[in-house]
Amino acid sequence: MQFSDRISGAGESKTARFIPLINKLKQDGIDVINLAIGEPEYESPAPVIDAVKKALENGQTRYGPVAGLDLLKERLAEGFQGYTKDNIIVSNGSKQILYSIFQVILNPGDEVIIPRPSWVSFSEQIRLAGGIPVFVDTHDNHLDIRNIEKAVSSRTRAVLINSPNNPTGAVYPFDTLEKMARIAVSDNLWVISDEAYDFFVYDDIPFTSPFAFPHLRERLVVTRSFSKHFSMTGFRVGYAAAPIPFIRAMTTLQSHLTGNVCSFAQYGALSALDMDNRIIKDWRMALTKKRDLIFEELSPVFDCIKPEGAFYLFPDISRHLNPNETSADFAARILEKTGVAVVPGEDFGKPGHVRISFAVPHETLVRAIEKIKEVL
Ligand code: PLP
Repeated sequence: MQFSDRISGAGESKTARFIPLINKLKQDGIDVINLAIGEPEYESPAPVIDAVKKALENGQTRYGPVAGLDLLKERLAEGFQGYTKDNIIVSNGSKQILYSIFQVILNPGDEVIIPRPSWVSFSEQIRLAGGIPVFVDTHDNHLDIRNIEKAVSSRTRAVLINSPNNPTGAVYPFDTLEKMARIAVSDNLWVISDEAYDFFVYDDIPFTSPFAFPHLRERLVVTRSFSKHFSMTGFRVGYAAAPIPFIRAMTTLQSHLTGNVCSFAQYGALSALDMDNRIIKDWRMALTKKRDLIFEELSPVFDCIKPEGAFYLFPDISRHLNPNETSADFAARILEKTGVAVVPGEDFGKPGHVRISFAVPHETLVRAIEKIKEVL
C-alpha cells in the first residue's frame, strides 16, 4: 500500500507505543503500574460534568462557531491583557492547535528551533507541515540562549518553547525568556509558547509566559489547554492566544479540518473557568508532595534534576544501562521485571534518560518506587 511521503516520514506518537504491551501484560495477569502516561489521576471536576449534562439537555449538540463559543473565548481572553475574543481560537486540545500553527506558518523547508529534550509530537507535526525541526541542546534542562542564537538560519521561522517542560519539568525564568524574546525580535521569528502545564508549577516558583513581553506579542502564539490543568484530557479542549490575523488564518484551516470543538465540551470548559479553584489547588499541593517523594527516593538511584513544574521526573539512568542497552531497552526491562511502565528518553530526543510520571495515587507511586529500587 502506498501512502504520501508526508505520512510515511512521520512516526506514530511514541508515548502511545507502549499501550499494546501494557495491555498484554495486564491480560497476562501482571500488576502493571503505568507511569508512562501524561495525565492527572483525578476525575474531571463535578461542576464540569454537571455543566456538560446541562448543555446536552439544553440541546447544545449542533455545529457552533468554528473558532469556539464567544462566551468561552471572552473568558479565555481575560487571561491575556489587552486581548479580546478575536485573539482566541479553541481547538481539539493544544495538540490540534500546535498542528495547525505549523500548517499556518511553515513552507516546505522552513525550520523551527526546538530546545531538546522535547515533547514527542512537536517534531512530527513540523515534518507533517513540510518543515524541519532543528533541535538545540538545553543546559541542566534550561534554555541555552547561545545554542538558540547559533541555530538561527535564513530558513528559521520560529522558536518553540515549552515551560513548564514535558519531559523535564523545567520552568524557564523571566530573564532567559527575555533573552530568547530578543533573538526572536531581532531575527524576525515567531515564538510558539506551549503552556499546557502552566498551572503545575511548584514551590512558589513564578511562572512566566512570554506574553509578559509586550514587544513580543505581534510574533507570539501561546497555546494552553484544559487537559492537564482541569484534568479534562478526554474533553479535547485547548486554545491559542495570538494576534488577530494569526487567529483568522488558524480559523480558516480549522474550518476545513474539524470545524468547532464539541459544543457541549466547550460548556464544560466554560464551567471549569468559573468553578471554585480550591480543588485544583489541592491537586497541585498533592503533586508537590509526590514530586518531593519521587525525587527523594530516586535521586540516590539515578542522577535527577528536581522538577519545578509539570508532573514528570526525567532522570539520567545511564549508570544502570547494561553494555549496549538503550534507554528503550531499559524501559522494556523495567516493565517486564516490575510491571512499571516509563517512557524512554530517546522519545524526547535524550537517550540515557527515562520519563516517569508522578501523577498517580500516592500508594501506587510508593509501590512503583519500591519495585524500581528493588530491581536496580
Ligand atoms: N503540549 C505538551 C507539552 C504536552 O505534554 C501535551 C500532552 O501531553 C500537549 C501539548 C497536548 O495536550 P492536549 O492536546 O491534551 O491539550
